[in-house]
Amino acid sequence: MQGWWIFIMENMQAVIKILIFMAAAVGVISVMMYIVGLFREPETEVKENPGTLREISRRDQQIRTLQSEVQRLNELNSSYLVFMLNIPTAVMHLNTTLDFDKITATIIRLVRDIIATDTVELYIFDKEGELLKRVSPDGKVEDHVAYALGEGLIGRAGQHRMLRIKGRGDEGYNRKKGSEHVETPLYMAAPIHFSNRLLGVIGAGEVRNPSGNEGSLLKMIADIASVALFNQKFLSGAKKEAEVDPLTGLYNRRYFFHMVQKFVEKAILEDIAISIFLFDIDNFKHYNDTNGHAEGDQLLKELSDLVSKFTRKTSVVARYGGEEFIVMLPEISKEEAFVYAERVRELIASHPFANREKQPLGLVSISGGVASFPADGRSIHEVIQLADAALYQAKREGRNRVLMHKPFLFSDDISD
Ligand code: GH3
Ligand code: MG
Ligand code: MG
Repeated sequence: MQGWWIFIMENMQAVIKILIFMAAAVGVISVMMYIVGLFREPETEVKENPGTLREISRRDQQIRTLQSEVQRLNELNSSYLVFMLNIPTAVMHLNTTLDFDKITATIIRLVRDIIATDTVELYIFDKEGELLKRVSPDGKVEDHVAYALGEGLIGRAGQHRMLRIKGRGDEGYNRKKGSEHVETPLYMAAPIHFSNRLLGVIGAGEVRNPSGNEGSLLKMIADIASVALFNQKFLSGAKKEAEVDPLTGLYNRRYFFHMVQKFVEKAILEDIAISIFLFDIDNFKHYNDTNGHAEGDQLLKELSDLVSKFTRKTSVVARYGGEEFIVMLPEISKEEAFVYAERVRELIASHPFANREKQPLGLVSISGGVASFPADGRSIHEVIQLADAALYQAKREGRNRVLMHKPFLFSDDISD
């Protein structure tokens, strides 16, 4: 031990040098290890923590999901924008037409534009039958596909005046009335109602890639539809009242002249004839006096139906006065109109009206006159006067007959 001590003391200088060198070497190695460790830190950590890799790929997946979600929302946003831009035109279209079929087609199209579904069905509420009846895309009411209030999604949306979405308890309810257990592919239904008055229900099928807004959108379209359908119902009712005679269902005198004016303009432009047949029930006062006013009314209705059904749709039949009727026959010559008028007279004379045998002639009959524009008169009013003159000539000649206006027969009338 003492020998070691003596050796160290003798070589102190060299020992110190060795110690300094060792300290410096340790320092340099530490710095190098630190630097290498710093640059390789992530790799070292990844190697050290395998869960991080999974975390990274999970986050990558999240980013991809978010990107596709952003894309989906962008597309949805664009479709909402297009839909919103189209709404003013659609609303204007809906509220400026009285055509039921155009309104229903527009409502169905609006739903199709904004909700990705294969099925859109519109039902109209028939108040008398208390049924919601399906409307075909061309506006025809399909009586055979109908729901009662409370029946199926459609019936329950109608009954509760609330949006209904198909839920668990709805299986088996979604059945068309009159047909056994036919499932309809409807997924939701919104009522079309105006101040709690039910007008219809609109239903949509299963939605592709739903956004969750479809119920609100369907409800919004139902609200737009309610105004349009209410206006259509109200205005066409008012229009009908202004045009149609309530007892007979024929056009009234006012509407007749409105139509005549249109046809005359066309007739002048296209150089075509319009014939007029004016007729009056014979001894109608006698019929009323014998059978009562109510029976008289019944006769007027029955006779009007008979004439309407016999007359082609291009002609206009109207109630001209109490028991006086007028028919405008566009593009029909006076001779052809006379043939038609004779058939009408025969039809009425041979019809088994109630109490006909009590009439002076033993039957219900008419007397009539026929004249044509422009052949007989310069204006349609003049032509009607000439037909009226022929009618009175028919009365004078014994009734139950029709006469054609002949200038030489009525020369007195023309010279007036
Ligand atoms: P003519 O053969 O000359 O035409 O004789 P008429 O009895 O038919 O003619 P008149 O003008 O004397 O009588 C017409 C009758 O028609 C009188 C009127 O009370 C009746 N009348 C008019 N409008 C109605 C109606 O809406 N209902 C009923 N029941 N009768 C009506
Ligand atoms: Mg009469
Ligand atoms: Mg009369």
